[in-house]
Amino acid sequence: MILFKHSKDLSTHLSAAKNKNYSIGLVPTMGALHKGHLSLISQSKKNTDITVCTIFVNRIQFNNIDDFKKYPSTIENDILLLEESGCDILFIPSEEEVYPDAASKNRHFDLGNLENVLEGKFRPGHFQGVCLVVEKLLNIVHPDVLILGQKDYQQCLIIKKLIDIIDKKIKVVVCPILRETNGLAMSSRNLRLNEEEKKLASQLYKSLIYIRNNLRSKNFLVLKNEAVTKLEQKGFRIDYLELAKSKNLNLVEKYNKADDTVILIAAFLNDVRLIDNILVKDQC
Ligand code: AMP
Repeated sequence: MILFKHSKDLSTHLSAAKNKNYSIGLVPTMGALHKGHLSLISQSKKNTDITVCTIFVNRIQFNNIDDFKKYPSTIENDILLLEESGCDILFIPSEEEVYPDAASKNRHFDLGNLENVLEGKFRPGHFQGVCLVVEKLLNIVHPDVLILGQKDYQQCLIIKKLIDIIDKKIKVVVCPILRETNGLAMSSRNLRLNEEEKKLASQLYKSLIYIRNNLRSKNFLVLKNEAVTKLEQKGFRIDYLELAKSKNLNLVEKYNKADDTVILIAAFLNDVRLIDNILVKDQC
């Protein structure tokens, strides 16, 4: 694996590869890698000739500075894991490399309602920050394929929209959520949970499953109420638990079999914010 810190060096390397007609896959991450991230790397390797992983904790997308400061960093282990997974290139830019001046942060993307609901509502400015960094990475790497995780469901839709806005021809592949054996969605933030909290955190997934399995026979709002009450009793603070149309995240109050929907949750366990989601489509 080749490690790059400067975008110019990476661009030069990749344009030589492009000239040889090699296809490029991009897996953007914020590090503290786990098997979920590595599943994206292996998906990229199946789809493309050269896999580029990036690690950059994008301060600008954190609406809460404490969350940014506490974001886990395990860079040496990340490098080992990427080497083992057969990743070809790792790009670890500094903040100055990504945002060389104030003007480079001064762009606004018209994301419509998608950035006002769910994560967008509870993390103002978050998706503008995501788009800023992703656009920069796309312009440096020029990938043929972008590999993302369903774990960040809304982010996938936002990035697809960004690709439309900036008019790039990039195939987006969305990989399934990798989970611990108890159902907890793998996440870098899980490193901030102790063993007891990790057990408890699996209740989020269990709530999603419970709602999904009962949507046909019970009203969603009733199910949501039951789940929220139960989770709050266990010590969670819920930001949202919603049913939404999968294609645009318009919220839905009444389940309709004909619509493809997704159930999404965000909740704090102590001071750690966790998100998860489950598609309803295939199950009912
Ligand atoms: P992050 O480092 O959290 O920004 O995540 C980088 C990429 O990995 C994003 O596309 C995430 O959706 C994806 N990802 C994170 N957790 C998982 C998981 N448990 N399973 C699959 N993909 C994941």
